[in-house]
Amino acid sequence: MSASYPLMRIPVVQAPPMVEEHLSGAEREALKERIKALMRAQDAVLLAHYYTSADLQDLAEETGGCVSDSLEMARFGHAHAARTIVVAGVRFMGETAKILNPEKRVLMIDAAAECSLDLNCPAESFIPFCDAHPDRTVVVYSNTSAAVKARADWVVTSGIAAKIVRHLHERGEKILWAPDRHLGRYVQRVSGADMLLWEGSCVVHEAFRADALKDLMARHPEAAVLVHPESPEAVIELADVVGSTTQLIDAVRTLPNRSFIVATDNGIFHKMRATAPGKLILEAPTVGEGATCTSCAHCPWMAMNGLRKLAQVLEGGAGEVRIDEAVRVKAVRSITRMLDFAAAERRRAA
Ligand code: SF4
Repeated sequence: MSASYPLMRIPVVQAPPMVEEHLSGAEREALKERIKALMRAQDAVLLAHYYTSADLQDLAEETGGCVSDSLEMARFGHAHAARTIVVAGVRFMGETAKILNPEKRVLMIDAAAECSLDLNCPAESFIPFCDAHPDRTVVVYSNTSAAVKARADWVVTSGIAAKIVRHLHERGEKILWAPDRHLGRYVQRVSGADMLLWEGSCVVHEAFRADALKDLMARHPEAAVLVHPESPEAVIELADVVGSTTQLIDAVRTLPNRSFIVATDNGIFHKMRATAPGKLILEAPTVGEGATCTSCAHCPWMAMNGLRKLAQVLEGGAGEVRIDEAVRVKAVRSITRMLDFAAAERRRAA
């Protein structure tokens, strides 16, 4: 069974207008050289999420950083010797990096880059909700603030959420899940767990439409359909593969299909095309051009990251992530549970 929390407690999130960085070739090269010199001088490593611009992803790889999902970004930063971590992504990613790397300086390219899931789930509403359901194990998605992670028993990523919830269900535990309702329903369906769901959503994934997707599938019957589980249930039902960003990239690389329809932020296409050159990557339809779509398959907060701002941050030192130590210590416990679970899974599979 699953149940939902009354919608009225969920803040309405207004996504910012989409403003993407446009650079000439000469500007791009000059900025990259300036940034590389600043990074060397400050012993910095760049961690870029798959949804950021191709320029940032390329720069991260050219300078020995990483392009990945939020958890791998934090893990990579932890293992790397650099004393400064620069995060190209959104606020919860910077916080996760700082939670796992308290001894390092963590900088965000734009400290105002948010996530609708994080904004949908403010700690001041979420903590009393948890307190009202003491019989439930609190499982939160990584797209949450440090304060929400600190209240949770477990933090999970989309790649491991179903496995952890199934494990808890088999131990007889009932779940309180936050913040993404679509991912929560998907996890409930595949795990069979008793889950009470917070009603948050991602502005990007919620815009994918099943009817339009069926039309595109009819025009490309050979294409495999890859869907991130933050998408609506009707879209997930049409998928050949449902998975995290990393799992969807792996699917493009390993499946024999020559074409793919992808329902997630189109920033990921840069890595998919580099991973599987020659394969056709098509964007799953959203509510469409000229309609009320606020994201149209690209996150407006991720688009706030760019090379110009990165140079400014390194020159001015703005955007440093700071977390109250008591909050950090609690948050690291719930993240560590997931990391230990994932490590045990890998050992079992070996
Ligand atoms: S794409 Fe969605 S889940 Fe990811 S950062 Fe943007 S709003 Fe958050």
